[in-house]
Amino acid sequence: MRRPVIRPTLRLAVLAALCLALTPVPHRDHAVAGTTLLTADRLFDGTSLRDGPVQVLIRDGKIAALSLPGAHGTPRIDAPGAEHIDLPGHTLLPGFIDAHTHLTYLWSDTTHAPNHLGDFLGSPIVVAFEAARNAERTLRAGFTSVRQLGASDDVDLALAQAIERGLTPGPRIVAAGAIYPPFPGRADIQWPPDGAAATREEIVAKTRAYLGKGYAWVKIYETSGTWDDTTGVPYYTRDELAGAVEASAPRGWVAAHCMGVEGARRAVAAGVRSIEHGSRLDRAVVRDMARKGIYLDPTLYHVQWYADHGAALEYGPGYRDRLAALQKEQFASVQLARAAGVKVACGSDAVYSMHGENAQEIVWLTNAGLTPVEALRAATSVNAELLGLEREIGHVAPGAVADLIAVPGDPTRDIAVVSRVAFVMKGGVVVRRP
Ligand SMILES: [Zn+2]
Repeated sequence: MRRPVIRPTLRLAVLAALCLALTPVPHRDHAVAGTTLLTADRLFDGTSLRDGPVQVLIRDGKIAALSLPGAHGTPRIDAPGAEHIDLPGHTLLPGFIDAHTHLTYLWSDTTHAPNHLGDFLGSPIVVAFEAARNAERTLRAGFTSVRQLGASDDVDLALAQAIERGLTPGPRIVAAGAIYPPFPGRADIQWPPDGAAATREEIVAKTRAYLGKGYAWVKIYETSGTWDDTTGVPYYTRDELAGAVEASAPRGWVAAHCMGVEGARRAVAAGVRSIEHGSRLDRAVVRDMARKGIYLDPTLYHVQWYADHGAALEYGPGYRDRLAALQKEQFASVQLARAAGVKVACGSDAVYSMHGENAQEIVWLTNAGLTPVEALRAATSVNAELLGLEREIGHVAPGAVADLIAVPGDPTRDIAVVSRVAFVMKGGVVVRRP
């Protein structure tokens, strides 16, 4: 087992970060949400594309008014005193939402098996600095909200608070406390011991403790399968999973990591809110998911990312074939789920150097058979509903939070433009300009 080592470059990084923290920061006027009038060529409102010149007026962090072309052309919004931002050739969209991130997994260290202990870099505080950098990358890529599905030392709760206070830029974070079985089966992967639970009683206690700390979700590892391990063997029984579901209701929800069909069957029977990965689903499971309104979050792109970086990640022999087979099974699951009417979410499972590449998941949803409009809905209105935030985010309409992004061209014609986000506004504050 590898011992945590603080590398000299990181000592320097910590010193630099501390110096930065001690330097007085000049007031940044762009951090104040004022009145802004955006003009663009078209709008994806979270559900469908609206063609023609559009205007969106933002006031006090919310969308105040919307102007769309009608029978007599586009009525112009008069907003004296507002800052005018013109985005010619661009499409406006609601800020993207990533339903599956791990912001605390490190940017630079892709050369070792994952060690989820907070002392990986000598201190969870250093992990927090790394996570803040990942959060900024995520926000600049157009993701104004994320669901965090696992971090140790409650770093994600702290980061969520720091972002909310305006201490560091990042998406709004909905965080999950992670529950792991005590027998993960991989000696080279160190799971955080504070997340382990062996029995229904322990799962219930852990769920209550997480909700008490402020987590809105619990993420439970129902099956094996992570890294280059694609096995998907179930761990917990239906009754044990139901312990987490019952203890979290009505304040919180459960997301279940499921790579095999038996684990998914148990999680669906227990009534979790979302199935993460969901490889190898069958017709009976997707039928029950559709009936119960359980979301599938297929996390397609990260499998390709793992395959592309397998050598640097020191994966075991045959990893390419294993991951290629898994990818096929995930595509098949998405197609079954889509045909059954299951709500398909969009979660990148961003880890390591994936932070900022989150939009690739939208592209990969179309590779798996979703239409561009369906993939855009997954990353906006469907994900907002999954998070229970559909009144605030995931759509562009008067009264909604002013989380808005712009991409060049029309993403319903060329989905690849989602990775070229040129403009980002979060809560009425401009984060990125063309
Ligand atoms: Zn994950």
